Amino acid sequence: MLIRIRPFRLTKAVPLAISRGTTSAVTHLEVRLDHEGLVGIGETGGFETGHRGYETDAVAAELKALPPDLGGLDPRMPQAFESLLAGLSPPARCGLDLALLDWWARWLNRPLWQLWGLQSETGQLATSVTLGLGTVGAVLSRLERWWTQLPASRIKLKLGSSDGPGHDRLLLHAVAGALERRREEHGQPLELQVDANGGWTVESTLRLMPDLVRCGVSLLEQPLPPDPDPRHDSAGFAALHPQCPMPLVADESCWDLEDLLRLAPHVDGINIKLLKSGGLSEGLLMARTARRLGLSVMLGCYSDGGLLNGAAAQLLPLARWPDLDSHLNLLDDPFRGLPLQGDRLSPPHGIGLGITMDSRTRDEPADARS
Ligand SMILES: [Mg+2]
Repeated sequence: MLIRIRPFRLTKAVPLAISRGTTSAVTHLEVRLDHEGLVGIGETGGFETGHRGYETDAVAAELKALPPDLGGLDPRMPQAFESLLAGLSPPARCGLDLALLDWWARWLNRPLWQLWGLQSETGQLATSVTLGLGTVGAVLSRLERWWTQLPASRIKLKLGSSDGPGHDRLLLHAVAGALERRREEHGQPLELQVDANGGWTVESTLRLMPDLVRCGVSLLEQPLPPDPDPRHDSAGFAALHPQCPMPLVADESCWDLEDLLRLAPHVDGINIKLLKSGGLSEGLLMARTARRLGLSVMLGCYSDGGLLNGAAAQLLPLARWPDLDSHLNLLDDPFRGLPLQGDRLSPPHGIGLGITMDSRTRDEPADARS
């Protein structure tokens, strides 16, 4: 078995500003697991959520420090990798977990979601597209640009602006007005979601609540900053939940199954992102558990390429709110294979994760570990 790690650049067509800062480009890692002539590929990279973060270089160093031949483990039996994966950071685990599951499903010659018995017909869902923070004019022109690219019916508006709740209120009403005009002109059903990325307090959220209701906001994501103390973190959601008339969704506060179980009584949904969860093995467990507990699942992304989003799309049949739009805002996404029809995504048709890498981007040397 040979593991190769290769960095590659992802550049956004339109930089994205959220409450914690602006991103215009990132470096991600391709993780290739080569065994008996079959190759599985994964994608990973650094990210941060305000209270926890990882650098891409550190993730690469972790993966390069893995034991040679991964201790002789057999990729036909992904369960055998559990203890090795458990020792890694979530993004390092994610890269290897995806490569391993891609290899395993390719070896079995089926799409991964099929091996998991998920139904792709129910998986065709509209992805939300994201409007970052900015001036009212810039945010409205970003919305128009999305509509020139695809008939987006789910709009996710980032709030929690450093300019304060007054600016958030202006953006909210301006975008809600634009959606209303579009509804009248095109007769298109449109949904407005709000993600404050932890930019609010309980008090400021409650003060904005009448505006969120008036603007028909369909869900509210992570209004409060994630608290490193899990008890305090849960208490924030518990204080808000009874007074939140729309679904309340945890993102930065919910990384793994443990967070999900802790937050379940106080939220209506969780945002699963593979870099946070440490890959699809934990993501599947979280999605199934969330549904069993009566919660809805959002599938989210950071500045991810088409492989991470294609991997998350394996879980579309278990999701209610796909939010897998980052690859649609890239100038140089090297991955192909995630089907998009209008604004509706479905799980990739190909075997494994169903995602391939553009050969033109595969000319840089890789660091090998065998
Ligand atoms: Mg979010």
